Amino acid sequence: MDKIYSASSIKNRDEQYKTTILAIDDAKDILALLDSDLSAEGYRVLTAKSGSQGLEILSAEDIDLVLLDILMPEMSGPHVLRAIKQNKQSKIIPVIMLSASEQSQDIVSALDLGADDYVTKPYIPEVLFARIRTSLRHLEINRELEKMASIDFLTGINNRRQFYHLSNIALNKNIRDQSSLTFGLMDIDYFKNVNDTYGHDVGDLVLADFSKILSEHFRGYDIIGRIGGEEFCICLPDTNVSKGLQACERFRKAVSKNRMSLELDGRMVDLSIKVSIGITSTKQESNLELLIKQADKALYAAKNSGRNKVCEFK
Ligand code: GH3
Ligand code: MG
Ligand code: MG
Repeated sequence: MDKIYSASSIKNRDEQYKTTILAIDDAKDILALLDSDLSAEGYRVLTAKSGSQGLEILSAEDIDLVLLDILMPEMSGPHVLRAIKQNKQSKIIPVIMLSASEQSQDIVSALDLGADDYVTKPYIPEVLFARIRTSLRHLEINRELEKMASIDFLTGINNRRQFYHLSNIALNKNIRDQSSLTFGLMDIDYFKNVNDTYGHDVGDLVLADFSKILSEHFRGYDIIGRIGGEEFCICLPDTNVSKGLQACERFRKAVSKNRMSLELDGRMVDLSIKVSIGITSTKQESNLELLIKQADKALYAAKNSGRNKVCEFK
C-alpha cells in the first residue's frame, strides 16, 4: 500500500521538532481542510485516508495526537481506536474523535472505548485547536509520569521495572530469532566503605558516575538498569557468552581505571571503585527469572573468588 503523506509531512530539520498530528478520515476534503488549518497553527500534519493506513503511519512515525473519523469503510474509527489504545507503544497518544454524529450513544461509546475527546463535524477551528491543546497538555503530563515510573532518579538509567520490561521484550525476540543473549548482574565491590569513608552523598555521586560509564560503554541497543542500591544489570541482545564476557571484561577494566576527582573538606581526593560481574547466556528454554538466578550464582562466584572479576555461569 502506498503511503499518502500530506505535502506538509515532507520533513525538513524544523518540521521534525514540531508537534505531529495524524488525521485519519476517508473524506479527502476533510483531510485537506485539517491539513491546511492545523499547518497554519504550526503543527506538522500527516494524513491517512483509511484506518489501516493510519495504523501503519502510527507504527512508523512519532505521532503526538490523532484525529479520528468514526464512520469509515474497511476499518471503522472505533476499531482503529481500540488498536491504538491496546498497543503499549501507542496507548498514551491522545485520540480525538472527529465525527458528524451528534448522537449521545456515539459520543459515550467512543469515550468509553478510550477516546480522549470528541468533536463534531463541521468543526469550529478555534474550538478544535483548544481541545487539541488540552489533550497535548495531558500527553505531556502522562509522558512525564511514564518517565518517572521507568527511570532511576539518582542515575538517570532504567529502573528495575523498566529494565525487566525491556529485557523481557529483547529475550522473547532473541528466542524467536534463535539468537543468543547475554545477561549480567553487577555489584560494586566494598561500596559500603565508600559511604563510610566519604559519606552517603559522595556514594550517590559514585553511583551516578558508574552509571555514566555503563551507558557509554555498551551499545545503543544493549539494555542497562539499576536494580537495587549498588546493583546493576545488563542485557546484551544478539551476544553469545564469549562476546558478552569480552564486553564485560572491557567494562570491568574501564571501571577500575576510572578516577573520580572530588573536593572534600578543601582537599582533592581521587576515588576509584571496582565491580564484580556474573554473566550467563540464553539456552533454548531460558526465561528472565532463570537468567537472573544464573547470573546471581555467577556473581556470587566472582565475589567469593576475590572480587573485581567477571564470572560466567557454568
Ligand atoms: P560487597 O563487595 O560484598 O558487595 O560489599 P558492599 O560493601 O558493596 O556490599 P553491602 O551490600 O554490604 O553494601 C552495599 C551498600 O550500598 C550499603 C548501602 O548503604 C549502600 N547503598 C545502597 N543504596 C545506596 C544509595 O542509593 N546511595 C548510597 N550512597 N549508598 C547506597
Ligand atoms: Mg550489594
Ligand atoms: Mg557491593
